[in-house]
Amino acid sequence: MTRPEHPNILFIMSDDHAAHAISAYQSHINVTPNIDRIADEGMRFDRCFCTNSICTPSRATILTGLYSHENGVRTLADRLDGRMLNFPQLLHAVGYQTAIIGKWHLGHGRRWDPTGFDYWNVLPDQGEYFNPPMNEKGTTRVYPGYATDIITDLSLDWLERRDPSRPFLLMCHHKAPHRPWLPDDKHRNLYENVDIPLPDTFDDDYASRPAAESARMRIDRDLRADDLKATVPAGLSPKEEKQWKYQRYIKDYLRCVASIDDNVGRVLDYLDDKGLTEDTVIIYTSDQGFFLGDHGWYDKRFMYEESLRMPFVIRYPREIAAGSACSAMALNVDFAPTFLDLAGVPIPEPFQGHSLRPLLQGTVPPSWQTTMYYRYWMHLDSIHQVWAHYGVRTERYKLIYYYGEALGSTGSEDRPTPKSWELFDLQEDPQELCNLYDNPAYSHIVLSLKQELDTLQTRLHDVTAE
Ligand code: CA
Repeated sequence: MTRPEHPNILFIMSDDHAAHAISAYQSHINVTPNIDRIADEGMRFDRCFCTNSICTPSRATILTGLYSHENGVRTLADRLDGRMLNFPQLLHAVGYQTAIIGKWHLGHGRRWDPTGFDYWNVLPDQGEYFNPPMNEKGTTRVYPGYATDIITDLSLDWLERRDPSRPFLLMCHHKAPHRPWLPDDKHRNLYENVDIPLPDTFDDDYASRPAAESARMRIDRDLRADDLKATVPAGLSPKEEKQWKYQRYIKDYLRCVASIDDNVGRVLDYLDDKGLTEDTVIIYTSDQGFFLGDHGWYDKRFMYEESLRMPFVIRYPREIAAGSACSAMALNVDFAPTFLDLAGVPIPEPFQGHSLRPLLQGTVPPSWQTTMYYRYWMHLDSIHQVWAHYGVRTERYKLIYYYGEALGSTGSEDRPTPKSWELFDLQEDPQELCNLYDNPAYSHIVLSLKQELDTLQTRLHDVTAE
């Protein structure tokens, strides 16, 4: 039997699933009963943030316990060097059986295949929704069916044939609900006769935020035919057309989420059926957040709340009180130290995050982090044209600096953009519509946040910052 000091760890991560499309997070637009079950029987983190809101870098940070500038995976165009230390290697070294199944997106080939895993079976690059090719330890073949079901099937298969006398780490990584948001047949007609409510900031005019104004991820302008999967009806006003596109987009997104939720339920049922629930830490999260029409957008990348925030619900009956919530700040760089701590493995000194284990046990240490450092490196990527930026978020404020150049980062365009700052008071303006940077009443706040930004960059060794 698994010893309690070596719990199983089952990490389910989807791709681009925003917290505000999960009913445990008070979604206004859908219900996710199975993901909610993890929250109801465990803990919901309300301030879990991504340190670089884009797929590949977040995945590298989760594995390595390092910020992007330290693990070298700053943009979508970077790959993770498999020789770098990661937490699965450390769990494997103390006897865990380890597997990763599904989305990888950190490179392929001799130096970039997954390391630290007994078994891996991953989607090449972004992967396909239907009949996905998958790379099983170097051999690629096509799996007929829908990716979310297949990734779950393969995960349950692996659990079924593991050695039950040893603990396991399983990373089950879904492709969904990533663009182009292709639902399966089972959910294709979900929401057919309903209108999904519009978010409050749907008609944001981007006033005082030139970086936001410049981004090309608008519902009304930038969705493509393969995103909409239908021709825009004739005769619509611009307002009606924007709302029509939103309904097309958000319904497909939520249909993909519904399939994930069903499959999370299958995994939970499996743990119950096999008597594994007590000794298994199960997590549901996503690699970052997403704009669900918020600010008139789809996609992520920005340090704004919808994109910055990660859903993170975790159940471990031996340590976590059912139905609890945590508002202390947690970061994706904290996941690796947390898993090591839960497994009784010393956290290597280079790891930059902090174990969340005290928070899981209901205690917030007096010295716990109340600020976080963020950096998005991919300056003017060819599609979304988001400006590179870094910033600091405290419990009340957020300061963002768009530094206006690529600084040699991959996947970027070497063209300058205006340097600009944004300051938001999240207490007074949680929707981040009012840039207070030039407001003299906030000059002392700006000064203290710049000092904190400098402190974080120094402590975290982001020496390439301007
Ligand atoms: Ca993603």
